[in-house]
Amino acid sequence: MKLRSCPSETDLPVIDSADVAVIGGGPGGLGAALMSARCGAKTLLIEAYGVPGGMAAVGEVQPFMISGTRQHPLDAPVYGEWKEAMLQYLPEAERRRVASATDYSNRAINKAAAALAAEDLLLASGVRLLYHHRAVAVDTADGKIRKVVCHTRGGFGVIRAKVFVDCTGDGELAAMAGCPFEMGDEDGGCQPMTLCFKLSHVKIPFVTNAEGERFMDPAWKKRLNDLYCQARAQGRVRCPREDLLVFPFQIADEGVVHFNTTRVQGFDPTDGASFSQAEIEGRRQLRELVKFLRSEAPGFENSRLMSMGVQIGVRESRRIRGLYRLTEKDFAACARFEDAIARSTYNIDIHSPHGAGTVLRDLRPGAFYEIPYRCVVPAGCGNLTVGGRPVSADAAVHSSLRIMPTAISIGQGAGVGAALAALSDTSPAEIDGRVVRKKLIGLGAELS
Ligand SMILES: Cc1cc2nc3c(=O)[nH]c(=O)nc-3n(C[C@H](O)[C@H](O)[C@H](O)COP(=O)(O)OP(=O)(O)OC[C@H]3O[C@@H](n4cnc5c(N)ncnc54)[C@H](O)[C@@H]3O)c2cc1C
Repeated sequence: MKLRSCPSETDLPVIDSADVAVIGGGPGGLGAALMSARCGAKTLLIEAYGVPGGMAAVGEVQPFMISGTRQHPLDAPVYGEWKEAMLQYLPEAERRRVASATDYSNRAINKAAAALAAEDLLLASGVRLLYHHRAVAVDTADGKIRKVVCHTRGGFGVIRAKVFVDCTGDGELAAMAGCPFEMGDEDGGCQPMTLCFKLSHVKIPFVTNAEGERFMDPAWKKRLNDLYCQARAQGRVRCPREDLLVFPFQIADEGVVHFNTTRVQGFDPTDGASFSQAEIEGRRQLRELVKFLRSEAPGFENSRLMSMGVQIGVRESRRIRGLYRLTEKDFAACARFEDAIARSTYNIDIHSPHGAGTVLRDLRPGAFYEIPYRCVVPAGCGNLTVGGRPVSADAAVHSSLRIMPTAISIGQGAGVGAALAALSDTSPAEIDGRVVRKKLIGLGAELS
């Protein structure tokens, strides 16, 4: 259903104003807001929930996937700063282990620590925060956003800024501003949504490799998968996913297993009623999975439901058409761009939109592709950049660049571009991407 946005021309009160307003406080918004503030722009972060962190906080998504190597991730500086800031919320005895690049827990995310650490970084950088503010409409004139209407406690008000950064994950702001976008693959299918959850009190058999890293016993995981496939075939678990996608979660407690297994297909995350149904379907699958695991899976007999995402996770929705559209060809060619704002080694990772199956396509070891600044500058709006997931790319390469570390780096580029435009009273499209890259390098990005 195509809904209309609320009337924005009425004289709503001004809630706040800034040089740069970042809408959405997920990984992309964190990168954008910190970098904008560090460029000297008065920066405001608007977030619909009461915590920052996006999928890492409210979607229960973990672990961080790696671009680069464990010892040398390509995403800097915000990704590393965020991880470092999370450590203080662990018991002191645990910090050294988790900080070690070779320990699995190095990539694990405690969602409360993620929110606290993101807020620590934002406050320390002078970013002003407005939680529980949802952008619901834009008022545009002369191809620019004049103000963004937010709904918050007590009603509606507006945010004014010279430049806005859309870090809503779904490209909501850009879509409201009339920017062209695409959604899904050539058949219009988006990657499935997933409700993530954790079970505690699981008896996990671990094995240790030569480097001293601990892993879930592969034989146990295989047994779990065999049982899961049997339960699926016999209709006790109705979930399209082909296997149990699980990760150990050793930073909260021993015996915690994280499930990324539910697979919710055929719903539209940009349509309110459809998205609501997706939540119900995600929780239906969760109930069946928990019942199956407790009654049939070894080690899960006394498991307890520890937590689940506050919302279902959306892997893919709008991809805003920008001044450049990154494609799978660029991925395969390990494309380089003078105006690169991020680099990635992460594989193409397409969870089937239509049933079982996951398509994985790797780059050769050590190879990376670059994402140009032009991908975060949308066609169709003169004072907007787009950070995080909804950037200008085809569905295949989007499945690679959507991981959290890269979403942060893309946000960084969008934040720097927005700040430079705001501070020079020009538009992001007029900012030379090579200057953005240079500025990012000066601020600690790995783009030399
Ligand atoms: C199920 C699932 C599993 C995944 N697994 C992994 C993984 O293992 N490792 C990995 O690295 N990545 C993984 N990802 C990818 C990753 O989580 C996302 O691509 C990444 O979080 C995107 O960051 P973002 O900031 O663009 O969007 P989000 O994280 O979605 O953040 C968007 C933020 O904007 C806010 N917002 C939205 N609309 C508005 C509005 N109108 N007004 C105000 N605020 C708004 C939201 O509340 C949210 O906080 C997974 C994703 C999903 C869904």
